[in-house]
This record gives sequence, C-alpha cells and structure tokens, in this order.
Amino acid sequence: MKKILEITNLSKKYHTEKEEIEAIDNISFDIYEGEFVSIVGPSGCGKSTVLSILCNLINKSKGNISILNGYNIAYMLQSDSLLPFKTVLDNCLIGLKIKGLDSLENKKYVIKLLNTYGLGDFINKYPNNLSGGMRQRCALIRTLAVKPDILLLDEAMSALDYQTRLNISDDIYKIIKNEKKTAIMVTHDLSEAISMSDRIIVLSKRPGKIKKIYNIKLDNPSTPINNRKDKMFSKYFERIWEDLNE
Ligand code: ADP
Ligand code: MG
Repeated sequence: MKKILEITNLSKKYHTEKEEIEAIDNISFDIYEGEFVSIVGPSGCGKSTVLSILCNLINKSKGNISILNGYNIAYMLQSDSLLPFKTVLDNCLIGLKIKGLDSLENKKYVIKLLNTYGLGDFINKYPNNLSGGMRQRCALIRTLAVKPDILLLDEAMSALDYQTRLNISDDIYKIIKNEKKTAIMVTHDLSEAISMSDRIIVLSKRPGKIKKIYNIKLDNPSTPINNRKDKMFSKYFERIWEDLNE
C-alpha cells in the first residue's frame, strides 16, 4: 500500500491568558492510501486537535506532517452546518465556489454524486426538506466536491440518534469506499470505530499520546452494521475498552 501521509512527533500546547494546556504529546502515525483509520480516546484527550492541525485550522507546536505530493485533505463539517437558505446543490457547491473551482465540469461531478447517493430528487430543495441521514450525505458530498484524497471526520455522526447513526455509518462508509477515499475519523464511540475501521489509534488521556494501535481484522468483513455481529468485534471492544479505562 502507498503511504500518503506521515505524522511525526506531533505536539500541541494551547496558550490561554491563564495557563498553558498541553493537548497532545509526541504523536506519530502513518496513513496509507484507501485506509479507514479511527482515533479514539477519552473526552478532551486531543483528538480534535490532531484533525484541526491536519487540515491547517490551527498550528502545531512541534512535529512534522508530510503529505505525498499532489494529495490533499478536506474536513467534513457537521451536517448542521448546511446553510438553510441555500439549495442542496448550492450547499454542495460552496467549497468549490470558495476555491474558485465552480466550473461546469465540477458542477456536473457534484450533480452526479447527488444522483448516485440518493439526493437526485432534492437537488433544488432546501436542507429542511432532508432527513437527518440525507443531511449527513449532503454534508459528505459537499466535502467530496473538492475531490480530496483524505477525508477528516470529527464525531460526524454524534449528533444523531442511535438508529439513524447506525444507518448513516453504513451510508458514509459505502460512499467513502466507493469513491476510493482515505478517511481519518475521530469518535468517542468505540463500536462505531471498530465497525468502520481498518486501524484504530487509541490515545491516552490528556496530553494525548498514542497508547496503542490496533489493526482491525474481522472474520467476515462486511458493512459497518454487519461488522458489529462479527465474532472478533466484541474481542476488540473488550481490549480497547480496557485501554480506555486504564
Ligand atoms: P477531544 O477532541 O479529544 O475531546 P480536544 O482536541 O478538543 O479534545 O481538546 C484537547 C484539550 O485541549 C482539552 O483540554 C481542551 O479543553 C483543550 N483545548 C482545545 N482547544 C483549545 C483552545 N482553542 N484553547 C485552549 N485550550 C483548548
Ligand atoms: Mg473533539
């Protein structure tokens, strides 16, 4: 497999008026093309910090990030960041417009994605006409519109109720695989991580350090919903649960 991202000795300290907060400490990992990698860890351990640094929202304090030439990263925003006064299509075109890339060709690509992933009838409707699952797909298509190689998902499903979340994990997973994207997902939901990932990076409590990395090998890898019934699923759950509660 092709290594497309290399993160070495990444550290971050936040400085506030009162104090210095060490969020993450010396984190190193590689990402290979086509992988689905999850980062799990206790609340406040620095998971979002890692993603925010990767997509240049904040500066790192130390370390190095190297991405293979020509590859790019996009951050999937939450579905509730869809603009209510813009149509589904216009919402999905926002990223392209900002980058000045809203050519006819790119617009056709977005319409193709909307059609392929069940939003064809909603192209000219507004987000309030969409179900929770459709909004999530719309948010994903908005991210895919700029043709990123690596997608970052931060607790993307956490605002949804359990049932919807299971179905959407399946949807999102299928779309990411279908479009041959690489994904790095942050979640506090261990089941979600195990059911979707090739690899899970477990962080310690703050300052987040890498505690363990698991290669997830299920007996019969399938869709995220089915993976939850796999014999190996509960084994990984027990092991990682222990790591998280040590
Ligand atoms: P997680 O996503 O794992 O819950 P975060 O990366 O959001 O954790 O935060 C890690 C730590 O850094 C937390 O203690 C948080 O309060 C702190 N933190 C996050 N953002 C800032 C900021 N902008 N300024 C100061 N402290 C911050
Ligand atoms: Mg977070």
